[in-house]
Amino acid sequence: MAERDVDLFVIGAGSGGVRAARIAAGHGAHVMMAEEYRVGGTCVIRGCVPKKLLVYASRFSHEFEDAAGFGWTVSGAKFDWPTLIANKDKEIRRLEAAYRANLDRAGVEIVSSRAIIEDAHTLRILKTGAHIQADTILVATGAHSVLPKIPGTEHAITSNEAFQLEELPRRIVIQGGGYVAVEFACLFHGLGAHVTLVHRGAEILRGFDDDVRKHLRSEMVARGIHVITGCTIASIEKDAQVLHVTMASGEKHTAEKVMFAIGRWPNTGNFGLEAAGVKLGDRGAVVVDEFSKSSVPSIYAIGDVTDRLALTPVAIREGHAFADTVFGNKPWSADHINVPSAVFAEPEIGVVGLSEAKAKEEGFNVDIFRTQFRPMKATLSGRATSILMKLVVDSATDRVLGVHIVGEAAAEMAQMAAIAVKMGARKSDFDSTLALHPTSSEELVTMHNKV
Ligand SMILES: Cc1cc2nc3c(=O)[nH]c(=O)nc-3n(C[C@H](O)[C@H](O)[C@H](O)COP(=O)(O)OP(=O)(O)OC[C@H]3O[C@@H](n4cnc5c(N)ncnc54)[C@H](O)[C@@H]3O)c2cc1C
Repeated sequence: MAERDVDLFVIGAGSGGVRAARIAAGHGAHVMMAEEYRVGGTCVIRGCVPKKLLVYASRFSHEFEDAAGFGWTVSGAKFDWPTLIANKDKEIRRLEAAYRANLDRAGVEIVSSRAIIEDAHTLRILKTGAHIQADTILVATGAHSVLPKIPGTEHAITSNEAFQLEELPRRIVIQGGGYVAVEFACLFHGLGAHVTLVHRGAEILRGFDDDVRKHLRSEMVARGIHVITGCTIASIEKDAQVLHVTMASGEKHTAEKVMFAIGRWPNTGNFGLEAAGVKLGDRGAVVVDEFSKSSVPSIYAIGDVTDRLALTPVAIREGHAFADTVFGNKPWSADHINVPSAVFAEPEIGVVGLSEAKAKEEGFNVDIFRTQFRPMKATLSGRATSILMKLVVDSATDRVLGVHIVGEAAAEMAQMAAIAVKMGARKSDFDSTLALHPTSSEELVTMHNKV
């Protein structure tokens, strides 16, 4: 075989690419990596991390309100958006530097440029025009948000711009029904904006359990978010002061910002994938086998660009599995079953496993255990809120197929519940686990009556 410049060339320094590069280098591979924007990718620069920081910020307003019932007077609390954004940016710069340092330490060569695939083993560095020969190419280019083709779409933003606004909009209209739209609706509301969430479907959060979807919507509405379903934005007009939004229903709204969070599409355009013979499937995603190998044997793909499960821990796991398989002589593949997930809304959602509808669709006869209760904190705070917990159990085997939680710390609970579900825990295992009192999560092990 001809001697090539590197063993592995990774395109994209996001969650998946960084993990793959570091692990492959640890196995002794000579690794080069191209990043056209910032090291860290979506999660670190304009996804999970900055979003969670904004979510933390937004929750203080609820805490201040809740504090009164516990005897606190919180007067004069004021929020300053530029301070939050500046502090968030500082933390993101710190993380980006840490990612770079880790890659440097691992011996990965980072090229700050877009990379183009010329053929199955050749890359072109757009900035310099240099050509690099690689034994293996890993495509870890992620996904991008889209704007709809409607009049005035140029006045709208996506989550990318939402992280960099100069000021907090007084009013914002957000279109979308997925977790990003819902999270931004809740966080902007918590920070003091008037929020209208408009979604094409009949209910928000498609794919989540129907009880969870309904419960979160009613909690959001109770807190003051205006939720419109079965509708879309038809046009946006801008005048000197504001944006005028016309819905497909004819309803009109004014807002300082309009945001679309209507889905993310794999980044597979304009860097030579198809010319190199890489097969693309639905939504333009790279088609891969269980080991993340594409239709071209020397080209692999991981993370959002493959459109399997667009979550950071999944991209990381796929990257790790790829590197161990191809460079570590330890073949394994990422498991996409029972992946826990969260929606950092207000209140929060944490889930693992199958929804009731999905379990039935997969042919299970299910027993449903569900509880809805007022959290202890709400007794003194006086907040009108309730926690929802639901277990989906296979009636034939007693195995817990799904755990669904809406309420404070739901994501933290779901991470722990995921261990039990992954281990194949039965409902009887939940029942025999002693409650930890007084907590909300104790309800997960004290649900005795089927619905
Ligand atoms: C607002 C938002 C919130 C999110 N919140 C969560 C969350 O709470 N939890 C969670 O698990 N997931 C969350 N996600 C999803 C998560 O960010 C992604 O699943 C994850 O980042 C995917 O990693 P990746 O490595 O596939 O791609 P990315 O992290 O997107 O990295 C791809 C990189 O490739 C670069 N690139 C693209 N093309 C080229 C090219 N030709 N040459 C060079 N470089 C290129 C890009 O600049 C980018 O840096 C969120 C996403 C968004 C948008």
